Formats: sequence, C-alpha cells, structure tokens
Amino acid sequence: SPIPDYLQSVVENVRSNDGGAPASYIDVLAKADTSKLAVALAMVDGHIYSAGDDKIEFSIQSISKAFVYAIAIEDAGLPAVLKKIGMEPSGDAFNHLSLQKGTNRPFNPMINAGAIAAHSLVVAPDATLEQRTERILDALSRLAGRQLQVDEKVFEAEMKDANRNMGIGYMLKAAGIISCDPAVAVRGYIRQCAITVNVKDLALMASVLCNGGVHPVSGEKLMPPESARQVLSVMATCGMYDGAGEWLATVGFSAKSGVAGAIMGALPGQVGIAAFSPKLDEHGNSVRGVDICRKLSADMGLHLMNSS
Ligand code: GLN
Repeated sequence: SPIPDYLQSVVENVRSNDGGAPASYIDVLAKADTSKLAVALAMVDGHIYSAGDDKIEFSIQSISKAFVYAIAIEDAGLPAVLKKIGMEPSGDAFNHLSLQKGTNRPFNPMINAGAIAAHSLVVAPDATLEQRTERILDALSRLAGRQLQVDEKVFEAEMKDANRNMGIGYMLKAAGIISCDPAVAVRGYIRQCAITVNVKDLALMASVLCNGGVHPVSGEKLMPPESARQVLSVMATCGMYDGAGEWLATVGFSAKSGVAGAIMGALPGQVGIAAFSPKLDEHGNSVRGVDICRKLSADMGLHLMNSS
C-alpha cells in the first residue's frame, strides 16, 4: 500500500513548523518532548496505518469528552443529557466559565463545563468516582481494542492546579446542572482526561464513530448509530473550541483536540484520523496536528462539504 509512505511524507512536511507552545498549566505536559510527531488513519474496514512516533503515549485530555458524552447518552438517555447540556458552539475558550442564558446549561459537551456535566451523568448521578472511572476506562478500552490506563502523574499534576475546573464544578452545582459533589465530578473528569493513548488507539476509536458505533476490527457494537451521529455532529460544531468555525471551513471534518497535543478526526463512513505533537496554538489545538489534518484533507479530499 502507498499509504504508509504517504503518511511518512505528511509527517516530514509539517516537522519544520516549530510554532506554538506546550500546555503550561499541567507541569507534566509543560515538560513534554515537543519534537514528537505522529499520525494514524483507521479505515472503517479495519485497516490501520501510521507514521512517526506512533508508539508514544500521551494523555487523551479533552478528546475523552467526545466518548464520555456517548457514555452519558447511553447511561442517562439522550433527553436527560440534553436537559443538562446544550449543543451550541460557545465561541469561548475550552475552560470558560459560562452557561446558556435561560436554560443555565453549559453550551456543549466539548468545553469543560459541559464535559464535567456529562461526566456526572456516567453510571448514575449518585455513582462514586471509582464507579465512573471504571465505566469510562472500560468503554474507552473497548473502543481502542486494548486495556487503557490512567497516568497517575498526569492526574496528580492537573489536580495541583484544578481551581478553574473546581470553579466550573461549583458553578454547575449552583445552577442545578449536576447533583453530585462538584469536587467528585471534577476529580473524576480530571482522571478521565489522564487516560493514556497513542495515535493508533485514537484513530481506531474515531473509526468506531465513523462506522455507526460498530468496532471495525472486533465487529462489536459499542454504541447505537444515533449516538455516534450525535457525537460527530457536536464535534463538528464545537470540537475545536473557539477555532471550530474556521476548522470546519478549512479542514472540513469532525474533530476533537486535547491539550496534550492530540487531534482526533472523523469522516463518517470512511476514516478515523489521529495526529499528535505537543505544541499548541492560541485555541489549545496542536499546531502540527492542525497542519497534518489540513494536508490530509486537501490531499485526500476529506472535506465534508465537497460536492464530489
Ligand atoms: N484536562 C484538561 C482541562 O480540563 C483538558 C483540557 C483540554 O484538553 N483542552 O483543562
């Protein structure tokens, strides 16, 4: 197949872009090796291709939000989830303290406020942190096709500077959006963000969303097609935070980024995409990851709005 050589050329093509900086507020991430660079594609027929540092593990961070939203829909039902979390882009940064006027809901599940609310709906509103963590680890491991782990160092590092997320948690509690102890919801959310993956895992996880919820390798039905569609729709409008509009116009596929430097992309019916490199732009999206996705989209015609 020409795909591995092509992916290698994509990696080399973006390597010289040295812009951006790794996330500074989580010390383990601030010290990341910024030279690392990787890409992977997982086709809906189960083929996986990768290039660059494809074995490097990093914390999933905000990309977990897409999957935990799907889990919350499964555990609480879509109507209950929609009562607590909206589906409009906020146009604000990922960690903004904001709620929609009138409904008091977080704007969407891809910003921290909505993600903490989604986390609190996993298993049941009165579940323990351990029950939620186990449920999320199990679901993400099934999607990745291997057992995933929480990186305790990343978890502890982020807990040291959790004031902003705690603030969001208490705001949600005061607004009646979460019913559990806000500190437990935030701790659990930060644990979910500390689960480690590599680019092949992420591409495969995305390919399940692209394949109507059926795992392309195991054939296991991991979520209903309606949930996969809901997640991909919200990713399309909100996954890249305050860069989401430009992203959809220029790159043109659903995507979710994480502050460790990964971007997960998804083109329904076709391919799951993952890119990784730690330096971030002003929106918190990986600089080289964005470059990789732009190039893949242009070279392979992956824009959703292409007419042919
Ligand atoms: N754990 C991070 C946070 O809550 C996730 C943010 C991100 O990946 N954008 O700040």
